[in-house]
Amino acid sequence: MLDRTDLQRILHAIDGHGYPAYRDIRGSYRFADFTLFVDHVQGDPFAAPSRLRVRVPMPTAGFPREMWASRIRCTALRDFLARAFARACRAASDRLGSGKSGLLAMDVPGQEILERSSIAIEPDWVEARFVAGLPARGRRVLGREAAAMLCDGLPPLVAETLCHRRLDAGRLHAHLRTAEDADALRRQLPEAGLAAFVADGAILPRRSGVDDRPLQGPGVVPFRGPDSLRVELALPNAGRVAGMGIPRGITLIVGGGYHGKSTLLAALERGVYDHVPGDGRERVVTDPTAVKIRAEDGRRIEGVDIRPFIRNLPDNSDTRFFRTENASGSTSQAANILEALEVGARVLLLDEDTCATNLMIRDARMQELVEKAGEPITPLVDRVRQLAERDGVSGILVLGGSGDYFDVADTVIRMHAYRPQDVTARAKAVAEQHPTGRRVEDAGEWPAARTRRYPLADSLDPRKGRRDVSIRARALRAVLYGTEEIDVSFLAQLVDEGQVRAIGKAIELARRRFMTGAGLDMAGVVHAVAAETAEKGLDALDDRPIGDYVAFRPHELAAALNRLRTLRVKEGDGP
Ligand code: ADP
Ligand code: MG
Repeated sequence: MLDRTDLQRILHAIDGHGYPAYRDIRGSYRFADFTLFVDHVQGDPFAAPSRLRVRVPMPTAGFPREMWASRIRCTALRDFLARAFARACRAASDRLGSGKSGLLAMDVPGQEILERSSIAIEPDWVEARFVAGLPARGRRVLGREAAAMLCDGLPPLVAETLCHRRLDAGRLHAHLRTAEDADALRRQLPEAGLAAFVADGAILPRRSGVDDRPLQGPGVVPFRGPDSLRVELALPNAGRVAGMGIPRGITLIVGGGYHGKSTLLAALERGVYDHVPGDGRERVVTDPTAVKIRAEDGRRIEGVDIRPFIRNLPDNSDTRFFRTENASGSTSQAANILEALEVGARVLLLDEDTCATNLMIRDARMQELVEKAGEPITPLVDRVRQLAERDGVSGILVLGGSGDYFDVADTVIRMHAYRPQDVTARAKAVAEQHPTGRRVEDAGEWPAARTRRYPLADSLDPRKGRRDVSIRARALRAVLYGTEEIDVSFLAQLVDEGQVRAIGKAIELARRRFMTGAGLDMAGVVHAVAAETAEKGLDALDDRPIGDYVAFRPHELAAALNRLRTLRVKEGDGP
């Protein structure tokens, strides 16, 4: 194998040559403490940067087995190293020529601790995957600068970020312990009969709509749960922790405007993920299958059985196998609910701010004026009890405007000046004193056999121009799959662009492997992808080792597939 001096020699030799001469450095090089892999060399200084990896043998990296033996610790260790490596890249980047010359970069993680393909750990080595802009002046190779960057710059960067003894031990341990505690906390929810848990002392508000770090300042009110909902749970590292348990069943979060309702719900949405120390939501955990539901008019719907909520549309369209290119507020929200249930959501999270009113409620006066025969919609208020009792699906609903849900709620939490109070008994008393006068609509069963949807592989086409497969992400907004743009901007539980990239690749994996012949329905397909990535890691998504991917849930994969405008499903009967 070539070594560091060989690389230096080659780079010096191609100094001043045309940019394509950089192709000569593809391959691997032995450095004193690691191996450098140059996997892909960019075609010119303005193109997507080159892809590199450094692999440090475990004896050199020195991470003791207990730091990576368990899945959650390994994920947290990788996440920590990704942060350290990304930070060091940014500091070492030195824009010294045309285009991306001098760039060193790895994706910078946000507030969630997630499995990331940018760092790989195996019993024998630790690997970082990153990109570099190989330096050029105009389109000429700056070989000496490249040698300085790679041969001289990488060794200290690698030593400082991938070797145990050089890392801040306190912060590293806190990272691992925090993730392990959150994971353990979430795993205790079912046994404790909870849909979610918010520890006392948690900081829920964020700095801004575009800054996910915790709000700071004297006005920030730390979370403190009411006594009646107080739960104590035991954590592997931090010992016992007390806070508010949100029981399974139907929970309302009520209160005046600006009192912190949506902030609490947003924290619960993110509670399916673990958070970094200092985030404020480290011990806010939600059932891992919880899905945020909202109205999303304009989305496409493909063959969804929305009869539990909508029947007898004026245009006579089939709501057992409902299809539209342009959903309304209510049909989109109905489809969002049924698609979430289809792939196993056990908790639905709704905020009236983003819901379709007519799917949520129809009050007595409206029932009087518009008779049932003239109204296709059965509002959620008449379905949530069936959901909770028949299917064991819990609901957590933020409501400030309608008291009609008091009759169907198990728990009512009032947010008052950012402090939760248990007002369940009071809400029940109010419900008794002030009957709504409304008739329960269509209390009949859900349609007996839910229709199964089998996605058809040939309705997916990853080709674009001359490329057989073209898949990209546009921030948190869209998956670009072939020539299709899948709008994912309303999926509140996507938090990292790497998840969007990974979902794009996962759709392709699903198409190639699980949609044809396998006889899998939508749930079967997304869970097959989940099983594959759980077993083989995120590398199962690509044929090359790429540092671009971040772990995602089956729910968001299904949501993206369901929004692909070319998707066709075949219907089949449930068991
Ligand atoms: P609601 O949904 O009840 O109308 P929000 O959750 O949107 O209210 O909160 C209103 C404002 O209060 C937001 O700007 C939010 O950041 C802030 N806020 C929420 N919770 C807290 C808290 N615990 N301490 C300080 N400010 C908070
Ligand atoms: Mg709100």
